[in-house]
Amino acid sequence: MEQDISSRQIAVYLHIPFCLTHCGYCTFFSVHYSKSSLELYLQYLHKEIDLFFQYHPDLAYAKSIYFGGGTPSLLRAEDIAELCAHFNFAEEAEITLEINPLQITKNYLSALKNTPVNRLSIGIQSMDNEELNLLDRKHKAEQIKDKIELCRQFGFNNISFDLIYGLPGSSLKKLKDNLIQFLYVKPEHISCYLLTLDSDTPLAAKIKKGKVPPLPADSLLAEEYELICSELNRAGYEQYEISNFCLPGKQSKHNLCYWKSMPYLGLGASASGFLPPYRYTNPSNLYDYYDHVEKGLIMPEAESCSSKQMIADFIMMGLRLTEGIDLNELKNHFNYDLEEDKGLQLEKLYSLGMIEKNGSYLSLSTKALFVSNTIIGELI
Ligand code: SF4
Repeated sequence: MEQDISSRQIAVYLHIPFCLTHCGYCTFFSVHYSKSSLELYLQYLHKEIDLFFQYHPDLAYAKSIYFGGGTPSLLRAEDIAELCAHFNFAEEAEITLEINPLQITKNYLSALKNTPVNRLSIGIQSMDNEELNLLDRKHKAEQIKDKIELCRQFGFNNISFDLIYGLPGSSLKKLKDNLIQFLYVKPEHISCYLLTLDSDTPLAAKIKKGKVPPLPADSLLAEEYELICSELNRAGYEQYEISNFCLPGKQSKHNLCYWKSMPYLGLGASASGFLPPYRYTNPSNLYDYYDHVEKGLIMPEAESCSSKQMIADFIMMGLRLTEGIDLNELKNHFNYDLEEDKGLQLEKLYSLGMIEKNGSYLSLSTKALFVSNTIIGELI
C-alpha cells in the first residue's frame, strides 16, 4: 500500500523518556529526570524534526500529536508549544498529553491552555492505594476526584484514564470498586491494560521472592476482563477496541491511526514510526539516539515492509477494533482476498462463534476478544 505522503495529514508521536522515579512493572524506555538532561534531549528532538522535514516537508501537516513517555508532563508548557509549532494542524486535530496525576496543578493546567493540547491521558492505573503502592505510583486515589475537577475547570473536556487489571492479589471485588470510582468521575475515554510482567522487572522479582502475592490465574483474568467490558458498557461506554472504551465520539483519533495501519511519524528515543512502506524504531538509548541525529540520520534501520507483511499488520491491528477490518479495503489496497486465502480457517472460526461478518467487515466476536491473539494468529 504505497501512499502519497503529500496527500495526507499524519499522526505524530513524540516520546519523552524521563521519569522522576522508576515504577517496578515498567518496561518502557525511560531514564531518570534532570532539568539539564531534558533540555539536552529537547535540542535533539527539535533537530530530528527538522531533519525529517528536510526530506519530507509534507510531514509537517499533523492530524494528531501524542506526547507519550516516560513522563511527558515533565515538559514545561512552553516546551510543548515549541514542539507543536513545527506542525500545521486543523482545529479538530487531537493533541494529547500523557500526564502524571501529581503534575495536575492549577499552574500547569493554566499554562497548558496556552498550548494546543486538547486531550489529557492520565496514568491513574488504580483507585486503590494498596495497588498504587504495589505499582510504585506516587499519587493517592483520594486526590483524583479533585484533580479531574481542576482539569474540567480549565476546560479540558477530553480526558482519558488508564486502568491496569490483573494485578498481584487482585479480585473481582477490588476491580469493581476501581471501576465504580473511575465511573464516578466519568472520563471520556478509558484504556484498560492487562498487567504483563517481564521477568527482569523489580515487581516480578518481588513476586518470585514471595514478598507480593502471585499474579491471578488465567480464569480470573478472563472474568476481570468480562467485568470491565460489562460494567463500562452498562455505563454507556462503547468498546471500540480490545482494551479501549469511550463515550460516544470520543475514540482516540491518534491511536485509531495505529489500528487502521495509517502512517505515523515517531520522534524521540525509542519511538517507532510507519511511513509506508517503511517501519522504523529509533534507538532506545539516549547516546545512540543523539549520535544518529548528530550524523543527520533519520529512520535508522528502517525496514521496507513487503506487501505480505503489510497485509499481516493490517489484519493483526485492524481486528483489534470491534468494527473489524474491511475485506474490500484489503482487496482494493493489497489485491488480497482473505476469504479465498484463509477459507478453511474462517469457516472453523465462524463455526466456533469467534468471528462475525457485517457487510464487508470481518470482526472478532465478543467472546473472542480476550483470546484475540490466538484467533488473529490463525488468520495471518
Ligand atoms: S511513570 Fe510510566 S514510563 Fe515512567 S517508570 Fe512509571 S510506568 Fe514507566
